Amino acid sequence: MSLIADQTSFGLYIDGQWREARSGGRMPVRDPATGQEIAEVAQGGAEDADAAVRAASAAFADGRWSRRTPGERSDVLWRLAELMAGAAEPLARTESRNAGKPIRMARDFDVAFSVDNARFFAGAARIQHTVGQAEYLSGYQSTIRREPIGVVASIAPWNYPLNMAVWKVLPALAGGNSVVLKPASATPLTALVLADLAERAGLPAGVLDVVTGPGAEVGAALASHPLVRMVSLTGDTATGREIMRAAAGTVKRLHLELGCKAPFVVFADANLDAAAHGAVMGAFINAGQDCTAATRVYCERGAYPEFVARLVELVGRIRVGLPADPRTEVGPLISMRQRERVEGFVARARAEGVRILAGGARPADPALQAGSFYLPTVLEPRGQDAEAVQQEIFGPVLCVLPFSGEQEAVALANDVDFGLAASVWTRSHFRAQRMAAAIEAGTVWVNEHVAIASEMPHGGMKQSGFGKDMSMYALEEYTQVKHVMSDLTDDAVKPWYFIGNDQGGPGRSPAAG
Ligand code: NAD
Repeated sequence: MSLIADQTSFGLYIDGQWREARSGGRMPVRDPATGQEIAEVAQGGAEDADAAVRAASAAFADGRWSRRTPGERSDVLWRLAELMAGAAEPLARTESRNAGKPIRMARDFDVAFSVDNARFFAGAARIQHTVGQAEYLSGYQSTIRREPIGVVASIAPWNYPLNMAVWKVLPALAGGNSVVLKPASATPLTALVLADLAERAGLPAGVLDVVTGPGAEVGAALASHPLVRMVSLTGDTATGREIMRAAAGTVKRLHLELGCKAPFVVFADANLDAAAHGAVMGAFINAGQDCTAATRVYCERGAYPEFVARLVELVGRIRVGLPADPRTEVGPLISMRQRERVEGFVARARAEGVRILAGGARPADPALQAGSFYLPTVLEPRGQDAEAVQQEIFGPVLCVLPFSGEQEAVALANDVDFGLAASVWTRSHFRAQRMAAAIEAGTVWVNEHVAIASEMPHGGMKQSGFGKDMSMYALEEYTQVKHVMSDLTDDAVKPWYFIGNDQGGPGRSPAAG
């Protein structure tokens, strides 16, 4: 099978056709490890977004996908998952080059987990149970239908391009919707390959459309388009606010997976070595460009010096390198702009008197000078109010702070605007359960920080957004519930009618509930 993953020039994928943007514009796609251009994609705009939405809307209306049986939809999605599995190596190579991911991670996490997610949703497409049919009012039968929503606009970030596309597109398709996907401008390649594989799997034309282009144009046009019924965004909290405003005009459903500043709480009774390894993995996975990244590490005072020493020692051993090298553990940031943003945070922290315990600079290795690399960094701020503690940095920077007792741990963990994920490290089952209940986050890990499973939900609280990815909860997000209530009697006048009923007899009135 010749794969489009090997192409270096891509159009927009609209109504089952590859086409150029109306404006004729093109955008370069770069390798963040070298700064070199590796491909070129069409630079779509509002007119292209409109064409894609119209194609998706027509496909939805004629039922070519929306009215297929769950089993038929499942078959196509299963074939898609298998095609992804068959294309794992080129997908991993493309993802690694485009997003700067260490190749080992791209293979073993990004692609392998995306295949697993796709298989899960292929199976889940057949399970659309609702409450059973019943007579809740005498003489009437109630049934619940779970129906697709219509055209879903999916707007994805650059940190896990294929995986985020799969989290958005697969549950929406499983539910019978049509999808217009807008990948992040920096990382459009694997989303375009996904569209090609979906076509090969037998997905009808128009059901999945992919429009590459700037968020402020393509994304904004999708968020306000009258034919779009739902917008699903994974991105920055500020983008989430913009999309809420744009979607308000036509009261669209929203699914927002936004920023975070995950707490990582270590009690003195924890396995400190496991906690130190967990913090290194949790904070520096994907060069810290992870929405659940362990960026606020709190350790109980008694264990603080020992834990921080072990943490700093482990951070010093992280292999920062070129993504194609299988030994590399941390690759570059997505762009020079993102590195400047991270450097800005560290420079301001330095000026505030924050101690830098590790990193805080670019790597010296001459082989890494052309890319947007930054060393894994550990900051020790003076307190909870520091900018580096409160704001999402989205880079390889973690903060360590001490605390005393469970009450303070909860207060510190919850003292940010975000609430996507958190972890608690302790050998006390009772404390772990109390902390899991008290922390405001969509996921709380106990003695772990990053593990996720296709069967379990992922999604935020507070300003980390709302709506769940993965699991049956995601399928619920992309479907809507309809109540169908049917008369069972064929009587012209029901006993409870108080209009047109001379008898006016007693009886339970639906209006009275
Ligand atoms: P971003 O918000 O800049 O971009 C996300 C997407 O939105 C991109 O496709 C972008 O083009 C588009 N966009 C930008 N402005 C838009 C607008 N006005 N209207 C419509 N679309 C617009 O985010 P990013 O920098 O790509 O990703 C990093 C952010 O994503 C971080 O804040 C991170 O925490 C968050 N994130 C969250 C999760 C999660 O599950 N909660 C997962 C991954 C990333």
